Amino acid sequence: MPEPESPTAGSPLAKPRDVDVAIVGGGLVGASLALGLSGTGVRVLLIESVAPDSAAQPSFDERTTALGNASRRIFQGLGVWDEVAREAAAIRAIHVSDAGRFGFARLKAADHGIDAFGYVVPNRVIGTALWRRLSGASGVEVRVPAGIEDLEITTERAYFKVVTAAGAREVTSARLLVAADGAHSAVRAAAGIEAAIEDYDQIAITAAVAGDRAHDGIAYERFTPTGPVAVLPLRGGGYGTIWSCTPQRAAELLALEDDAYLAELQSRFGWRAGKFRRIGRRASYPLKLTRAAATVAHRTVLIGNAAQALHPIAGQGFNLGLRDAALLAEVIAGATGDLGSADLLRKFSDWRAADRGGVVRFTDGLVRLFGSRMPGVSLLRNLGLLAFDLSPPAKRALARVSLGFGGPTPRLARGLPLLNVFPSLK
Ligand SMILES: Cc1cc2nc3c(=O)[nH]c(=O)nc-3n(C[C@H](O)[C@H](O)[C@H](O)COP(=O)(O)OP(=O)(O)OC[C@H]3O[C@@H](n4cnc5c(N)ncnc54)[C@H](O)[C@@H]3O)c2cc1C
Repeated sequence: MPEPESPTAGSPLAKPRDVDVAIVGGGLVGASLALGLSGTGVRVLLIESVAPDSAAQPSFDERTTALGNASRRIFQGLGVWDEVAREAAAIRAIHVSDAGRFGFARLKAADHGIDAFGYVVPNRVIGTALWRRLSGASGVEVRVPAGIEDLEITTERAYFKVVTAAGAREVTSARLLVAADGAHSAVRAAAGIEAAIEDYDQIAITAAVAGDRAHDGIAYERFTPTGPVAVLPLRGGGYGTIWSCTPQRAAELLALEDDAYLAELQSRFGWRAGKFRRIGRRASYPLKLTRAAATVAHRTVLIGNAAQALHPIAGQGFNLGLRDAALLAEVIAGATGDLGSADLLRKFSDWRAADRGGVVRFTDGLVRLFGSRMPGVSLLRNLGLLAFDLSPPAKRALARVSLGFGGPTPRLARGLPLLNVFPSLK
C-alpha cells in the first residue's frame, strides 16, 4: 500500500504525532498492556472513552473477576498485585453440582499442592490499581475520555485522529494499532476483521450477597435447568453471585424486589453456602460468544474481548485476555526491528492460537453440555461429574485450566520480566 501523500492535508495539524503503539480501549486488558509496555522504551498512547473513576466505566464496574494464578503472576510483574491482593479472596476449593441430580465434583487446592486455584476481586479494585499505576508510567501517554476517528492504515503506519470529549482533534500515527475496545470493537470493524457471534440466549445477573456464615474460600458452580449459578467468595465474607438464565426469566428476576430475588436465588442455588441475608445492586449482561475471524491484520492486533468474548461460566475471559496482553508486551519488547511488522504479528497470532482455541472450546463446551435438557446428555453429565470426583487426572486437567495455562506461557505469567532486547532500535 502506498503512503498517503499527506494524511492530514489541509489540517492545521499537518504533521501527525508519532507513537510506536496506540492502544484503543483502556479497560482491564488494554490498561494491562499499556502497563506491561511501560519502561520498555516503546512510546505508547492509550485512548479510553470512559474515565476510570466514572460509574459508567464498562470494564471495571460492579462485577467481580476470578483471577487464575497465571493472572496473579502477571499482576505481580505489572506491580499491581499488592494493591489488588488487599481486596482479593482466595479460592481454596471448587464445588461443582447439578441441581436435582446426584453428581457433583469437589476440588481442593491443597490436593494439587497449591495455596489457591485463584482469587476473586471486584473489577473496580483491579481497574483502580491499573490506572493508579498508569499515572506517571514511563513511556505511556493517556487520552481519556477520548476516541479515534478517520482511521487509515498504510504500509508503514496507522493514521487516525484522537478525539477528546471536549472536541479537540489530534492527528496521530502509530506503527501498531491495538484493539482492546471490547466485544463490539470498532477498531476490529474498521480494520475489516469479521466476527462470528453466537447468541447463547442467556442473560447473566450479577449481585454481591451477604450470608449468615463464613465462606471458607469455597467457590460454587451449580448447574440448573435454566442456566448456571456461580457463587464466589469475597474478601471480608459474602459472595459475588452470577445467575445466568433465559432473557425472559431474567426480565422477571430483575423486576423483583431485593428480598424476593434473594429468595429465588437461594431456592435455585440451595443451602450449601448458608442463608443469603442481604443483597447489593443487581446488574445484567447478555451472553454471547464473539470470535474475531483473525486476531491480526495489517498493522493491527486484537486482544481481550475484541478478539474473543466468552460466556463467564468458567471465569476465563479476562484471564485469557490478560495472557493476550502479557504475550503481546513480550513480543513487542523483544522486537529488534519494526514492531508492527507482519512477521511479528504472525508470531503473536500463532503463539496465542492454542490458548485461545483451547479456552474458547472448553468454555463453549461447558455451556452446551450443561445447558442440554436431553435425558441421555444429562445422565452422561452426572456420571461425568461423579467420575470426575473420583478421577485424579480429570481433576488435574480442570485445575490446570483454572490456573490459566494452555499453549506457550507468557514470561510475565511465569513470574519472569520481559526481555527488552534492543530498545534503542525501536
Ligand atoms: C458477568 C460476567 C462475569 C465475568 N467473570 C469473569 C471472571 O470471573 N474471570 C474472567 O477471567 N473473566 C470474567 N468475565 C469476562 C471479563 O469481564 C472480560 O473478558 C473482560 O472485561 C475483557 O476486558 P477487555 O478490556 O478486553 O474489554 P472490556 O472490559 O469490554 O473493556 C473495553 C474498554 O474499551 C473501551 N472502549 C470501547 N470502545 C472504545 C473506543 N471506540 N474508543 C476508546 N475506548 C473504547 C471501553 O470503555 C472499555 O473500557 C466476566 C464477564 C461477565 C459478563
